[in-house]
Amino acid sequence: MRLILMGPPGSGKGTQAKLLAGREHLTHLSTGDMLREAIRSGSELGLKARDAVEGGKLVSDDLLYDIIEARLRELGSDKCFILDGFPRNLRQAEFLESTLPRMGIGIDAAILLDVPRGSLLKRLSGRRVCSHCGKEYHLEFSPPKVDGICDVCGNKLYQREDDRPEKIEERLKTYDEATLPMVEFYRNRGLLVEIEADGGIEDVLQRILDSLDKVKQGRV
Ligand code: AMP
Repeated sequence: MRLILMGPPGSGKGTQAKLLAGREHLTHLSTGDMLREAIRSGSELGLKARDAVEGGKLVSDDLLYDIIEARLRELGSDKCFILDGFPRNLRQAEFLESTLPRMGIGIDAAILLDVPRGSLLKRLSGRRVCSHCGKEYHLEFSPPKVDGICDVCGNKLYQREDDRPEKIEERLKTYDEATLPMVEFYRNRGLLVEIEADGGIEDVLQRILDSLDKVKQGRV
């Protein structure tokens, strides 16, 4: 399957995308991860994207088109993927819609994770990430065994710059203004799959898998 995963910051996109990738044998393409990696490595892309990413704003579309197109070309037309964090506005959705057919690729579903605003704030403000392996924790819901230290690799946990309270507000505003209109775009194309995602990780994953089964049945 070729999937797009959409949802507000804190809706669990990254977590569910990784799990889905494992279960369905999909390549996980996360623009947020690509940008954070570019910032860490100090590449030209990283330098250009840094202020927007750390300020909770979207980076300019042009910065992402090349990297997304390159990654999709690398995969080729027989590989399946899940796009996490791209597209994020209508222009990006239109870019994808015009680019994929040239590669002989179509999208099977655009999944929207639906989570009430109160839960989003709680999830984002408590999130901590391992500085080495990227594993995510939550101070309340999934704390590490030793405070501030990753269970897996023993390195230090940090709070993402854009998970600080003032940045969270900015990201949610950006989501409402830029990303929500894209939901209609996919609804109009009959690709939208809405998932109630304010639950445990495994419950939400199961709801997504059940919905994808229906998509697959509809395709046969
Ligand atoms: P994420 O990890 O998906 O929450 O993304 C983190 C940050 O990366 C976002 O707040 C944006 O600054 C930037 N970003 C990720 N994907 C995109 C995109 N498709 N368009 C613009 N900016 C993006």
